[in-house]
Amino acid sequence: MTGSNTNVAPTTSTQAPAERLRITEIFHSIQGEADAIGWRTVFVRLTGCPLRCVWCDTEYSFYGGDWRAIDDIVADVASHGAKHVCVTGGEPLAQKRCLILLKRLCDAGYDVSLETSGALDVSPVDPRVRKVMDLKAPDSGEAARNLWSNLEHLLPHDQVKIVIASRADYEWARDVVAEHRITERCMVLFSPVHGAIKPCELAEWIIEDKLDVRFQLQLHKLLWNDEPGH
Ligand code: SF4
Repeated sequence: MTGSNTNVAPTTSTQAPAERLRITEIFHSIQGEADAIGWRTVFVRLTGCPLRCVWCDTEYSFYGGDWRAIDDIVADVASHGAKHVCVTGGEPLAQKRCLILLKRLCDAGYDVSLETSGALDVSPVDPRVRKVMDLKAPDSGEAARNLWSNLEHLLPHDQVKIVIASRADYEWARDVVAEHRITERCMVLFSPVHGAIKPCELAEWIIEDKLDVRFQLQLHKLLWNDEPGH
């Protein structure tokens, strides 16, 4: 996806292409989900995604963006003075040089998380990075893209996130977590699709089935109604 877009602005940088990434935005906010929820965090949003989840809330990151040198990205992150950095998208791993950025951020001492779709291989990701990996439930329209071998590469500090749009999605998620014993590997997060099911419904299903998963609401949607830049 990322290499085929013809809308990319021409770059004026003299750096070799291997040192650059296509970036939609870098912004300083509060982490709205997963285990780092509530921490002041710098978000680096990479452009492009090969998936098209029907409820995607970051479609603006599919196209465009600016080529930026990794040195420049790291300097921009540093300017905000936050301990936590979240590399997100789009699908950040769709740009292979994302792996270089992740390593650079870890080497610089940040607490680094990576939000990834679960459709691309996570095995080369620096083990210091906390992976927040989706499994796509059927109502996303992208369940066939789940790369199940990724489960073997999860570490105890990683998290699996399943976004749930219906009772059928919930039952799929419940059964998949049990079948693959995912809670024995790492934390599992169940999150309702904003506006598709009532959050309290999902919470009650989790309680009723006594699941050892973590219910989450996206804090940034409560705070800023999901406006870009937050
Ligand atoms: S993987 Fe993420 S960015 Fe890509 S379409 Fe799905 S929700 Fe949107």
